Amino acid sequence: MDPNCLFCKIISGHIPCKKIYEDEDVFAFWDIAPQAPKHFLVIPRKHIAGPAALGSDDEQLIGKMMRVGARLARENGIGDGFRVVFNNGAEAGQSVFHIHMHILGGRPMHWPPG
Ligand code: AMP
Repeated sequence: MDPNCLFCKIISGHIPCKKIYEDEDVFAFWDIAPQAPKHFLVIPRKHIAGPAALGSDDEQLIGKMMRVGARLARENGIGDGFRVVFNNGAEAGQSVFHIHMHILGGRPMHWPPG
């Protein structure tokens, strides 16, 4: 845990959130500023700054995040159409430097994403 990290504080309960799911590896909660009718985040308990900071030890963890995210999408009514986003770096729009998988759905998604 990084004591200065917003998402570490959410995992530890020091900052409240609308939790969807947690287990020994991952944690999921609704985004505070949703960009779609359904928008939640899946994060690992382990503090990793972002996709570019992943190590080979983390490969299984990222796979689990995807599998849990898809299951939660299904359970929340967007299993047939959802977008998965990882932002890496401020230039790409990353604002919280604890890796997180956005899952968005409930409206048509367009491409290119902008
Ligand atoms: P990113 O811009 O990819 O780093 O995504 C960070 C996301 O975290 C944004 O979509 C924010 O709306 C969301 N966020 C920031 N603070 C909170 C919070 N306290 N609870 C839930 N979501 C948050």
